[in-house]
Amino acid sequence: MNDFVDSRLKMKRRILIVDDEEINRLLLEQILKDEYEVLLASNGKEALETVEKERGRLSLILLDLLMPVMDGYEFFNSLQKDSQLSQIPVVVLTSEKEAEVKSLRMGVADFIPKPYDIPEVINARIARIIQLYENRNIITATQFDVLTELFNREYFLEYASIFDQFYPEEEKDMIAVNINRFHVINEIHGHALGDEVLCAVGKGIKGYVNDHKGLACRYSADSFYIYLPSDDHAQGLLDTLCDALKDVLEDSDSRVRIGIYKNASANSDLGKRLDFALLACNSLKGNYNEHIAFYDDQMSKREHFEEQLIHDLDRALSEKQFKIFYQPKYEITSGEPKLTSAEALIRWFHPELGMISPGKFIPLFENNGLIGKVDHYVWEEAAKSVAEWKKKYNVSIPVSVNVSRVDMLSKGLAGEIKDIVDKAGIDVSEFLPEVTESAYTEDSTNIFSIVNELREKGFRIEMDDFGTGYSSLNMLTSLPFDVLKLDMVFVRNIHTDERVRRLVEFVMDFAKYLGVTVVAEGVEYKEQYEILKELGCDIIQGYYFSKPLPAEEFEKLIEKGLKGGEKNDN
Ligand code: C2E
Ligand code: CA
Ligand code: CA
Repeated sequence: MNDFVDSRLKMKRRILIVDDEEINRLLLEQILKDEYEVLLASNGKEALETVEKERGRLSLILLDLLMPVMDGYEFFNSLQKDSQLSQIPVVVLTSEKEAEVKSLRMGVADFIPKPYDIPEVINARIARIIQLYENRNIITATQFDVLTELFNREYFLEYASIFDQFYPEEEKDMIAVNINRFHVINEIHGHALGDEVLCAVGKGIKGYVNDHKGLACRYSADSFYIYLPSDDHAQGLLDTLCDALKDVLEDSDSRVRIGIYKNASANSDLGKRLDFALLACNSLKGNYNEHIAFYDDQMSKREHFEEQLIHDLDRALSEKQFKIFYQPKYEITSGEPKLTSAEALIRWFHPELGMISPGKFIPLFENNGLIGKVDHYVWEEAAKSVAEWKKKYNVSIPVSVNVSRVDMLSKGLAGEIKDIVDKAGIDVSEFLPEVTESAYTEDSTNIFSIVNELREKGFRIEMDDFGTGYSSLNMLTSLPFDVLKLDMVFVRNIHTDERVRRLVEFVMDFAKYLGVTVVAEGVEYKEQYEILKELGCDIIQGYYFSKPLPAEEFEKLIEKGLKGGEKNDN
């Protein structure tokens, strides 16, 4: 028999013996007390009180029929009126054939004739009935996952609640285990290896729960849950699983992530216990250096916040709750800095949550694919602004827009952007897509073809966040882009750290060699500005000149620029 079931059966069930004759009660108690926790009542009324007190925790009732105060029939009928109590199997203790038939007709589970049989027979009979009734609640044909031999989802949930019922005082932890990049294992190395990985993890988990008196299941694909008495499980479980994977995968140490919901049993909602453990587990997604996370309330709060943002997105778009801010870019190569262009940066003015910065919702919408809608909106608004400034001030102020790596997956992207620009009536040179360096290095083939398509249509491409994406010099020479945007991490220390200054100097030289324009962003101080100017940087963007501004305020800067006198003093 499977170890889990075995341990489940070892949990002591509670049995209530109802009989008015003390000698009968003691006799049965004697027979059953090794295997069961035995409770006693001497009539139906007392029994009803006990049943109520032990609601949800009784596995079986042994019932005498003829008793004073309240007899067995009346007691049984009362039980049947309660949907939960009527689920407890009742075994009748009788000495007359007639009563046996009558009680079976009433719907009792079984009967045991008096005088009592040999103890083993009584014990076996009771064990069988308890098992029968417990399993009655479980509908699936097999209780085990074929691949890993752990419980399947339904049985796991059922046994977890039985576990709670019988050990209500014991604190228990819910743990979610997932495998990092499991789909990649399947896709690249084939399903056979995928199966091997699952089996190895299953085996590791099984050993662990056996040692710690818990239960576990494979919930779906590479998602496992463990429910076990609370303890300091994190490191021990991680070590066990890494060890189990060591012969199957080379990078076994970075493959598992574990989310722990401590003292989960305090939460009465079993579904929530799974959710919270998984939430902790998912907080590690994409982070291959950390393998264990504990659930905390912040995770739920963040999840609710994110749910709300997703829910509110369409309405926000139609009600124009998103506002585009423009951060000016100043050209510094000739004499006085000159406002030449801007970057469009989105802000969400949510009616209940107030202003939300893009860092809070862009990654979220990138993860669920909704970013396309948001970016499309920003591009349209930005293109309209460029057209408006042209009309109003008779100047061309090109705008850079952020193009998420996720947008790059859409084949029709170049056409979509070109349509927006045409519709607004501006030139392709006035609209600059920014693509982060890491997008280039992560998925070069796709990016290359879309970027090339955009360039063929006349767009100039900015490589954003340069220095954070690990492209090699060698790669840089072959990547298609026209403007290099130095990430702020370089700018931050350029005036305090000589090594950073030299690195930037080198990047500038290399950019010259490639023939691309260099923009430095995040410039906050005069010293930073001066060094960048000296090193030959073309364009500066940062608080030193101006924060991102709402369109109306940005227009004031344009007006000021037209009159001469450039630097914004905010
Ligand atoms: P990013 O594209 O690197 O944008 C530059 C960020 O640096 C902006 O933050 C900007 O406000 C901030 N910044 C500019 N100058 C300074 C400075 O001198 N000091 C400091 N400390 N920060 C400065 P923001 O607006 O919060 O945007 C954050 C990120 O959100 C952006 O980083 C971009 O990746 C993303 N994002 C913003 N708008 C959009 C959008 O419309 N679409 C997409 N896909 N992403 C967007
Ligand atoms: Ca950007
Ligand atoms: Ca950037």
